[in-house]
Amino acid sequence: MPDTARIFTDIIELVKTLDPANTRKWFDDLVVMRFAHGLLEIGCPDEVTAQFLNDNCRGAFTKAAQSATGHLVTVKFGTAHAQIAPSTAPRPEWAVKLHPDYSFENFVVGPANRLAHASCIAVSQAPGVTYNPLFLYGSVGLGKTHLLHATCHETQKKFHGASVRFLSCEQFVNAFISAIEKGNLPEFQSHCRTVDMLVIDDVQFLREREHSQEEFFHTFNALYNNRKQIVLTADCAPAELPSLEERLISRFKWGLVARLDAPSYETRVAIVQKKAHLRGLEIPEPVAEYIAHKVQANIRELEGALTIIYATAKTIGEEVSLDLAKRAIGAEVDLHKNITISEIIDAVTDYYDVRLTDLQSKKRSQSITLPRQICMFLARSLTRHSLEEIGGHLGGRDHTTVLHACSKIKELQKNDPQTNAQLAELTKTITQS
Ligand code: ADP
Ligand code: MG
Repeated sequence: MPDTARIFTDIIELVKTLDPANTRKWFDDLVVMRFAHGLLEIGCPDEVTAQFLNDNCRGAFTKAAQSATGHLVTVKFGTAHAQIAPSTAPRPEWAVKLHPDYSFENFVVGPANRLAHASCIAVSQAPGVTYNPLFLYGSVGLGKTHLLHATCHETQKKFHGASVRFLSCEQFVNAFISAIEKGNLPEFQSHCRTVDMLVIDDVQFLREREHSQEEFFHTFNALYNNRKQIVLTADCAPAELPSLEERLISRFKWGLVARLDAPSYETRVAIVQKKAHLRGLEIPEPVAEYIAHKVQANIRELEGALTIIYATAKTIGEEVSLDLAKRAIGAEVDLHKNITISEIIDAVTDYYDVRLTDLQSKKRSQSITLPRQICMFLARSLTRHSLEEIGGHLGGRDHTTVLHACSKIKELQKNDPQTNAQLAELTKTITQS
């Protein structure tokens, strides 16, 4: 067994270099459950972490295991001790998987999010009782989705077997439409209406979707009348949700409505430190302060800055320092400057050595498709242009094509370290030009 232990330590070290973006400090706590006949079974503390590893890290672990042993190895993740009883209703495939990073423990509380945080805790301690529905709102990247995951984690921990269903509003709408098409509406309805807690993220997505609003209205009533908890988020207050039916808006206001504001400087510093800690990185205080100073509005960008700094340090083989941080994210970087689609297209065509006319053409070879999709993704994340406008710049493609491209690149960003690095580099070029 000492041999297995040593190999496993090597594997974990290799994974850290192969896939730094997905590396977490708790990887050190993983254990080997079984290692025989080319099968490596890794034990995780709970179902959520096992799921996270299966979805995001299997490739890196497999590669690492193969180079550590010199053999083909199949990697599996499981729970070392199955402590959490599975919830009564199985999760349909269209529901959100909980993310282990998004816990209350990993959420930094400050004046800007205190009420939202406290109300989520209250709901997870007594679902359906205190605040029903709970409605969180605020602009993008302020922690709404994080709080929803944390609420689900906590509720499941406290009430073993409670059935908690977490959906993005888009998933709700798509599952509803597909249930109609396939003629299994009752099944969909029972998935949504028989749970103890229904959590729906980004309900602004219901705008203009009348049939889905109708369905949602009935789901809401069914749950509410049975004293089941409902938690919702949106990017604006209920009253400002345009074109949403009045009766739906008034229901949103029945319980507690909590707003999230942009966090203060002190909170941002604490968040950067927390994120670094989660990945097992040592971050010098001046670097954390520098990032917090540079990035003000969207917390997601704090993480991006952290990633760029550590990736740069690694590429050039230097320790992370304030000086390096300044070089990496640029003394004059302004993450809010007005980046144009043309700047993005210039950077991408340059980087991949393709022509704009190719990006705008109907060509579908991989060497053209990838840069095209990366343009769409970057335009979506770095500018405020609509999907239609972005598609317009790239050969008049419609909004579904752009959406598809964005989700594909997002997926690659998570699972493919090479694309992830290319995106980081491109982002840097674009934001600093
Ligand atoms: P939203 O849903 O409001 O757009 P998210 O919940 O997706 O925002 O948050 C974006 C990122 O910022 C996530 O990685 C989340 O963990 C992080 N984040 C936001 N607020 C906090 C906070 N107070 N503490 C720790 N992380 C935070
Ligand atoms: Mg969100």
